[in-house]
Amino acid sequence: MGDIPDRVSQVDCDILVIGGGTAGPMAAYKAKVKNPKARVVLLEKANVKRSGAICMGMDGLNNAVIPGHATPEQYVKEITIANDGICDQAPVYKYAERCFEIIQELDKFGIRFLKDEKGDFDVKKVHHIGTYVLPMPNGDTVKKALYRQLRRAQILISNRYMATRLLTGNDGRIAGAIAVNTRTAEFLVFRAKSVILCLGAAGRLGLPSSGYLFGTYENAANSGDGYAMAYHAGAGLANLECFQINPLIKDYNGPSCAYVAGPFGGYTANNEGMRFIECDYWSGQMMLEFYNELQSGKGPVFLKLDHLAGETIGEIESILHKVERPTRGRFHEGRGTDYRHRMIEMHISEIGFCSGHSASGVFVDEYARTTVDGLYAAGDMANVPHNYMLGAFTNGAIAGEHAVDFVAETDFAEFDPADVAAECQRVLAPTLREDGIPPNQIEFKTRRFVNDYLQPPKVTRKYELAADRFAEIRDDLDHGMVARDPHELMRALEAASILDCADMAVCASLFRAESRWGLYHYRTDFPDKDNDNWFCHTILRKQDGRMGCETRPVAPYIVPIADDERDAYDKQRIRRQA
Ligand SMILES: Cc1cc2nc3c(=O)[nH]c(=O)nc-3n(C[C@H](O)[C@H](O)[C@H](O)COP(=O)(O)OP(=O)(O)OC[C@H]3O[C@@H](n4cnc5c(N)ncnc54)[C@H](O)[C@@H]3O)c2cc1C
Repeated sequence: MGDIPDRVSQVDCDILVIGGGTAGPMAAYKAKVKNPKARVVLLEKANVKRSGAICMGMDGLNNAVIPGHATPEQYVKEITIANDGICDQAPVYKYAERCFEIIQELDKFGIRFLKDEKGDFDVKKVHHIGTYVLPMPNGDTVKKALYRQLRRAQILISNRYMATRLLTGNDGRIAGAIAVNTRTAEFLVFRAKSVILCLGAAGRLGLPSSGYLFGTYENAANSGDGYAMAYHAGAGLANLECFQINPLIKDYNGPSCAYVAGPFGGYTANNEGMRFIECDYWSGQMMLEFYNELQSGKGPVFLKLDHLAGETIGEIESILHKVERPTRGRFHEGRGTDYRHRMIEMHISEIGFCSGHSASGVFVDEYARTTVDGLYAAGDMANVPHNYMLGAFTNGAIAGEHAVDFVAETDFAEFDPADVAAECQRVLAPTLREDGIPPNQIEFKTRRFVNDYLQPPKVTRKYELAADRFAEIRDDLDHGMVARDPHELMRALEAASILDCADMAVCASLFRAESRWGLYHYRTDFPDKDNDNWFCHTILRKQDGRMGCETRPVAPYIVPIADDERDAYDKQRIRRQA
């Protein structure tokens, strides 16, 4: 590689927040507001101004618990049932109690939420049981509004630094992190009393149907670095076999129906134009019915809006084509498809890890603490089920506030300088080769095998073969991958995270010997739910340098679920009367 300055700088801070998308800015902001003297650094691989899942904006809050519309108890019940019962309710309850206050704060930041003529929040029903969706008419301003607050609070921001590994002390406490500049490949070593991981979903795991490496549903910068870093630091990761799979517009990486079009009367239909699922709220059970319909000969599946009035469709377009994914109108224009004239083809997305839409993430408690002392996680990469954007904001806030109290009573943990040297060596290895395999080929190969072998339904033999293929790719990655400039080096490091996530997906999926969460973990060799043996979390962690899984009991429920409520989300298919 060209000139790589041999420079390693060190920064000391109280709290290092990694990931400046949604949860990260809120964590940094809340920590700083609670203790303005705390040294808080926000580290971001891209630029905080426009990074993360909300970079272009957001259509609405998917899970707002608003007094008068829903109670925390109702919400906890809904999410527990939606997640097939595998839910530690304390973090969900904490979120449900705090999120209204966060909505009010976001409102003050200038992010407007839909209100009715009386000035009350105009919440829409999308979920199976309760009412939680709050549209955001100026959702395109969310990132700008957030960024203004970060400037106001004088948070130190390090853009264009990609975190690669966490540092732990001899006593197992968190000690900091290592990052590399994506433009210069210079290293920055952080000594930190606490680290908050907010690196988003592992979105670049499967290949999207469009065939583009970066055409993922998730923000394409989220390549699973957070999952990989937590794993290598010894943190427990929960329920990784509960994949994220979403119903999307075919060949377009945007969501289609439930949250936006649903309240206007749009729905998911088969090729006969018939509705086949009771509820368009995304869940594994809903995705299984989607998959079954595709297999039944009644596919493809479509977004059906052509029965709606032109004015209503115009309103839907003004949201779907302008806020979250402003390219969507152009996509339809290019294809010559118009919601008014015919149904729009949908498809099953690539797989990923994410708690935002499912439940696969780093294990955390109600204060966003991981199993490593001083290490927190929030947002899509922390396993609070069905968390979404407001979950990222609220749990980011909870993490920031807790961490700032934690660091007041803590000293730095000392890390071994040899760990830093070893990581610099790992990072730079692809730059020291004259020739070899470019990172995008390693990435493509990994993700093609992810699609071939890991996309549910899960078949044991396919997963075993995948493990062998991933081991071969790791050999190529470790000994043959080449990076010719700092940008390509970032891609090389991402390819390593993606491969780690692929291995984790295999390990966790083979461990849980039952089917659960609808399509998310549907194993053909174990097609039934087995509550006697598997009503538990699976926790994946690095044990003696190797990947392993164990079970962890679900914490006793705070909000009881009656026996006849438990399977409410299993009854998704519309049964026609004879
Ligand atoms: C297309 C789409 C539509 C959605 N629609 C809605 C909706 O309408 N309503 C709703 O409530 N939710 C919605 N969500 C979910 C919501 O956006 C997410 O749950 C939430 O934004 C996740 O926040 P986060 O902070 O965990 O991740 P992100 O906001 O994605 O932030 C992660 C950040 O980490 C950075 N990063 C990654 N790796 C590194 C590294 N190694 N070093 C440094 N930085 C790194 C990334 O660049 C990114 O900025 C949607 C999500 C998507 C993808």
